[in-house]
Amino acid sequence: MSYARVLSAGLTGTAGQVVEVEADIAFGLPQFVVSGLPDAALHESRDRVRAAVVNAGEEWPARRVTINLLPAPVRKQGSSYDLAIAIALLGGTGRLPLAPLDGTVLIGELGLDGRLRPVRGVLPMVAAGVRAGHLRAIVPTVNGGEAALVPGAGVRTADSLNDVIRFVRDGAALGVPAARRPGPDPATVDMADVAGQEYAKFVLEIAAAGGHHLSMIGPPGAGKTMLAARLPTILPALDDTDAIEVTSILSIAGKLPGDGLVRRPPFMAPHHTSSPAALIGGGSGLVRPGALSFAHRGVLFLDEVAEFPKAVLETLRQPLEEGVVRLGRTREIVTLPARVQLVTAANPCRCAKPGGDTRCECTPLERRRYLGRLSGPLLDRIDLHLRLEAVTAASLLGAESAAAPEDSATMAARVAQARAAAAERWRTRGWRLNAEADRSALALPDAATADVRHRIDTGQLSARGVVRVLRVAWTIADLRGAPVPGREDVTTALGLRLAAH
Ligand SMILES: [Zn+2]
Repeated sequence: MSYARVLSAGLTGTAGQVVEVEADIAFGLPQFVVSGLPDAALHESRDRVRAAVVNAGEEWPARRVTINLLPAPVRKQGSSYDLAIAIALLGGTGRLPLAPLDGTVLIGELGLDGRLRPVRGVLPMVAAGVRAGHLRAIVPTVNGGEAALVPGAGVRTADSLNDVIRFVRDGAALGVPAARRPGPDPATVDMADVAGQEYAKFVLEIAAAGGHHLSMIGPPGAGKTMLAARLPTILPALDDTDAIEVTSILSIAGKLPGDGLVRRPPFMAPHHTSSPAALIGGGSGLVRPGALSFAHRGVLFLDEVAEFPKAVLETLRQPLEEGVVRLGRTREIVTLPARVQLVTAANPCRCAKPGGDTRCECTPLERRRYLGRLSGPLLDRIDLHLRLEAVTAASLLGAESAAAPEDSATMAARVAQARAAAAERWRTRGWRLNAEADRSALALPDAATADVRHRIDTGQLSARGVVRVLRVAWTIADLRGAPVPGREDVTTALGLRLAAH
């Protein structure tokens, strides 16, 4: 026998990719060729595989060895194919019958001594295998718990190339991954912490229910950051598919949390001095996700958004539109997931610095100019505009005497109900959220939209603005369990639109 084939997996961007590894052993000058668009790391892999095979006590074939990685057009990165290359090669010599590895994805880097070393991104790799119908995986022991997080995956672990050879040849047992307990994921913050901001909390609830991007403008001390940080606590928990996507990004970055799949929507708040790479990702070799991808399926919070360089804000336009980051690299374009809910916060003017003297001496023109920095790419995508006032001692005292502030669980329950109503309504159109709905679907009876038409006639509302108002009106109706928005809902939505100016 001179040909063998096994399954492995790697990464393209942050997505797992199943790769077939073929070995062909032919007569001819002894050499070791690896083909299938290898990068520099794969050339190093050749040296590691040769040493590992010899040090495992196996005979290196005095033949022409060709290893081919498929699909060929996909650029292979990293060292996760080592184990599969070594096993395919031994299979090709005929001395290792590979039937026991049918449907099994082999992942791991080999040390020169034949030890199996952990790799980053095992979670998305195993998930890709399961999606393709390959339900078994053999991974380095250190990666076992992570691999086992993938629902439906039968994971075994090995410490060395020898472990895998003995399993194939003699049926020796492989390791079983230590189970990670998907323990409780207690939120450290709660909406109940926010007193005296009932209207702001209502607007956040709309944002959560409809998936609307939100802009907040208010002086320091108005609670903008406090509110934004609590938005994830009223969003629905991530389902299996989303949880794997979110956890995969952490897996690739080597930041996997200790226990189980991430179920809580993430919250990322990059500073306005962040580099574009820190925001959207970058790096050579294995890609480094940026804040946009770490916020995937969660909230991206841009505090003091007017302080971000315009060019940096500009880089957010395309990801917000498409839900992915596209990174141009030397020979390819890598896409990273980036479906985020955007929340921005700004002070009303430049002089209102946190902790400083908040007495404002800015002219109206200066104020307009400052907020004008937000226009363009971001403002265009934002459905909700919230004006906040500084929380006064009086309102806090008033809140204390009133009923206790609503907590996240209560608000999350209404959000879930509203989302279910929207998903059911848009089911045939393929939308999950009101924020995704297009104009044709949003039309309302004339009686409900009298105010909107008046604002259009007086030039206060553009066609694009109308769509945003209607989307929000539907969300407000969903939150109160109404089948269709009424005039009140439209008026409330209109107020949230006009607060932009
Ligand atoms: Zn000022």
